[in-house]
Amino acid sequence: EARLKFLATWDEEKALEEVTTIFHQRYGKENAPIHIYKSPARVNLIGEHIDYNGGKVLPAAINRFIYALVRLRDDKKIRMSSLQFPGILETTLDTIAHQTEIPWANYPLGVLSEWKKAGYPLDKGMDVLFMSTIPPGSGVSSSAAFEVVFGYALSDLFEVSLSRVDLALLCQRAENNFVGVSCGIMDQFAVAMGEKDKALLLDCQTLQYEKIPVHLGEYSLVLTNSNKKRELIDSAYNTRLKECREALSLLQQRFPIKELCELSESDLHSAEDLFQGKETLFKRALHAITENQRTLDAAKFLSSGDLHGFAQCLNASHDSLQHNYEVTGEHLDTLVSLARSVEGCLASRMTGAGFGGCTISLVKTSAIDRFKTIVGSGYKEKFGIVADFLVLSLEDGVKKKI
Ligand code: ADP
Ligand code: MG
Repeated sequence: EARLKFLATWDEEKALEEVTTIFHQRYGKENAPIHIYKSPARVNLIGEHIDYNGGKVLPAAINRFIYALVRLRDDKKIRMSSLQFPGILETTLDTIAHQTEIPWANYPLGVLSEWKKAGYPLDKGMDVLFMSTIPPGSGVSSSAAFEVVFGYALSDLFEVSLSRVDLALLCQRAENNFVGVSCGIMDQFAVAMGEKDKALLLDCQTLQYEKIPVHLGEYSLVLTNSNKKRELIDSAYNTRLKECREALSLLQQRFPIKELCELSESDLHSAEDLFQGKETLFKRALHAITENQRTLDAAKFLSSGDLHGFAQCLNASHDSLQHNYEVTGEHLDTLVSLARSVEGCLASRMTGAGFGGCTISLVKTSAIDRFKTIVGSGYKEKFGIVADFLVLSLEDGVKKKI
């Protein structure tokens, strides 16, 4: 469906009028108001695969959105549907159960379930329609945006003054407990807490964060969607998690650390003898430790406006994910090397969990057309797949639209 693609132009007002018409067709016309909420997607600028190793991440909310149109009812009935996914879910406030026929509904139902567990008020049913311009399953976290937009709607409609951090935590629990995906907090945090022209330097364990200004001058961040279905990702993720645990326990023989990212790169090198016959584990640890340092450096470079320093961190991040962590895959590696071959492109790296999904590139704004042509045609030639491009802007977190 065209709406799932990155749209070159996007007239929000017109689209919302259309969606309101569809809402009336599906659920009937009534006097009660339709409330509209919107949540951005997110990219992680740098800090990949280290949130579970005590490292910091640097995500930002971006200019793709999911909208929730919600109308409260006088009874306890709940109806939900989405323009992007099939099925109309019908249930009641008292029967929030896991769905196998309409799997996407588990995201908002999970939010409702956690909402009830937390003891927040919920005394009216509702009709809900979701509409999104976020490509799902592409590593820009349509799932977190989906949960957070609905959770935010609940907090507004039932007048619960939930902090944005608590909202993010509630939505993470929804994904963990109800959908069954053991995700960290980064995605929900980024889409709830994002701020215009800022990224968030976040410690996913302590939830301490710092807002980092992102001013790119004559450069832009370009998101390229490989449109390659992410495969292997769950099993690879679990394997990496296990490898990092093993590397950590080897290192704990010598250092009093609780997380890999507490160690310095030179300490790791001094302990290379611990990894005899386990070179893979050493490489995983090397990625985690250097990626954390690059993330801290990248935040400093951004704050001081040193784009070349920032670019070096991005490039080194991809190289480490490719060679040490081995989660890139040939589609992403090809996009990155094509991007780096373009004059005016300072840096390119995969973003998200890997094996598919998106890359981000730092490109001179005047070179974006050339960038799209060269990267798009080279990629098409090699894989027969058309990549999508989006020039990013960094946006505010979830909010009420109307
Ligand atoms: P990502 O978060 O990287 O986009 P996930 O696999 O975590 O990928 O989440 C994608 C899932 O979220 C989809 O398969 C679908 O179930 C749900 N989802 C995302 N966007 C929508 C939408 N607009 N309408 C309904 N469900 C959606
Ligand atoms: Mg997700």
